[in-house]
Amino acid sequence: MKKALITGITGQDASYLAEFLLTKGYKVFGTTRRSSTVNNERIEHIQDKITILQGDLLDQGSLSSALLESEPDEVYNLAAQSFVQTSWNQPVLTGEFTALGVTRLLEAIRTVNPKIKFYQASSSEMFGKVTETPQKETTRFHPRSPYGVAKVYGHYITMNYRESFGIFACSGMMFNHESPRRGLEFVTRKISHAVARISLKKQEHLELGALEPKRDWGFAGDYVEAMWLMLQQEKADDYVVAMGENHSVREFLDLAFKTVGISDWSKYVVSNKTSHMRPAEVDYLIGDASKAKKVLGWKPKTSFKELVEMMVKADLVLEKK
Ligand code: NAP
Repeated sequence: MKKALITGITGQDASYLAEFLLTKGYKVFGTTRRSSTVNNERIEHIQDKITILQGDLLDQGSLSSALLESEPDEVYNLAAQSFVQTSWNQPVLTGEFTALGVTRLLEAIRTVNPKIKFYQASSSEMFGKVTETPQKETTRFHPRSPYGVAKVYGHYITMNYRESFGIFACSGMMFNHESPRRGLEFVTRKISHAVARISLKKQEHLELGALEPKRDWGFAGDYVEAMWLMLQQEKADDYVVAMGENHSVREFLDLAFKTVGISDWSKYVVSNKTSHMRPAEVDYLIGDASKAKKVLGWKPKTSFKELVEMMVKADLVLEKK
């Protein structure tokens, strides 16, 4: 039986990855950091099938202990301060978690067992002010937020441990991926949640920033399979994972409101173009996942429309409870 350790097990991606690895027959371990309240909602349904260990990206000893205890074949580093906006308010902490945290974990692997295979959650935010469209593995990085900068560091240190110590370390340069388990602060979930509440007359308005920005949005459940596939190859490498199409916030709104039978949503949405502006904006990101498709045989199964409908329907169920 293969064993996997996932950092940030309480997060969106980790919950889908844990489900996926359980179906593959893995013994799954996940790390959480200490908090005064339990926040296991995303993994409640599988909690009796996985083992939770303590592990904080700020505390190297806790990472080594988690490795010694779980003796994993594969480690998936999904823990991070993952919200771009927060990275401007807490740039140092973001660097500690999202950048140096990767080095702490790689160091723990190098000293405990360098044969462990490692996956790093890199991000399309590394491309930021894009130099070519669509973005692929060779596209130059130009991050536009402390989060993006920290992810570039995490990406290069992963590459460096592969080249310096021969660790089987891979990065998935993942474009945005959403789900009903996405945090409420992210625009997609903010929309699906508000649309469900508006249709149930529990909320009157939804306030958003500009509606024109476009993102390449996919379904998190599809993307975790690519993480696993990367660690099953002969050779460690880095891959872009994306849908290869981008959609505006306006299109997301359109589909979300259509799901609850509302075609004219103008009276429900207040768009304040300046209130949600980032100090430095990223361009319209769109990924070219041809390498992942060709080498890994990865293919997304969920369309943009299906994703939006899935999120709104899940929030309807949640809000009716
Ligand atoms: P998420 O839902 O925000 O989950 C992040 C996880 O990291 C949470 O479990 C969080 O724990 C944990 N964490 C934060 N700080 C930590 C620390 N100091 N020590 C240990 N754990 C810590 O993020 P996600 O959407 O699943 O994303 C997973 C990874 O992929 C992240 O690294 C993210 O940056 C990256 N990524 C995501 C996307 C996307 O579109 N979703 C795209 C590209 C890359 P708490 O529950 O205690 O806060």
